Amino acid sequence: MGEDPASKVYVAGKIRDCGEVGIESREFALPESTTQEELIALVQKLNADDTVSGLLVQLPLPKHLDEKAVIDTISPDKDVDAFHPANVGKIMIGDYDFLPCTPAGVMELLDEYNIDIAGKECVVVGRSNIVGKPQSMLLLQRHGTVTICHSKTKDLAEITRRADILVVAIGRGEFIKGDMIKEGAVVIDVGMNRNAEGKLVGDVEFASAEKKASYITPVPGGVGVMTRAILMKNTIRAAQK
Ligand code: NDP
Repeated sequence: MGEDPASKVYVAGKIRDCGEVGIESREFALPESTTQEELIALVQKLNADDTVSGLLVQLPLPKHLDEKAVIDTISPDKDVDAFHPANVGKIMIGDYDFLPCTPAGVMELLDEYNIDIAGKECVVVGRSNIVGKPQSMLLLQRHGTVTICHSKTKDLAEITRRADILVVAIGRGEFIKGDMIKEGAVVIDVGMNRNAEGKLVGDVEFASAEKKASYITPVPGGVGVMTRAILMKNTIRAAQK
């Protein structure tokens, strides 16, 4: 909805990804002036449309709209972003159909590189509903010893230096430096930020962090591509269901 330039880039990427894997996609680019009732009516129409397996509402919405009410309207069975409270709640009990794309992508990365989670000190920096909180639950389900940090955390560096697996999702460019990382840690950088030169950077300062880490994800080309891949996976799962 509206003119958010980042949203336009993300939506274009999702449409491209769908094309690549053979999923038909439909875009509804609504003007900024769209009312809450109109948007909800569209979501309800797509909920009821049997030719649609999955749907998502690209966030953020313009200020006059109530994001929560819109997300709550999406059918949980078609909620391929896994933002609906029913799907979020299922993560807590470890019984889910879809996982939110970014944390699920991080788990796939860890598995792909055979990184053992059980018993490891896992530190997640950030507690948003779409990344930090679900990420923490997924690491806990896999028997990590999980610490969640946020903007009120005291002595952050002392905690991050304990991490065998460090996941950072705070939205602050190159905030986590090499001296905040334990030797040999696995570092997953979720952040996507523009620095003063307009370059895309993560939440981790890659140059200093890679000297300490045993594994580290780059930005771009790390978690972002996994997020996109999981959206496709969730959509296929929704269609199979
Ligand atoms: P939010 O802004 O919703 O949450 C940020 C979190 O970081 C909050 O919990 C906040 O704490 C915490 N935080 C902020 N500053 C600090 C600090 N100095 N020390 C410790 N914690 C801090 O962000 P999102 O979770 O939505 O996104 C985080 C980053 O990940 C962004 O850069 C975003 O662009 C990126 N992102 C990337 C995706 C991908 O596909 N790669 C997908 C989604 C997001 P508090 O709760 O106390 O305010």
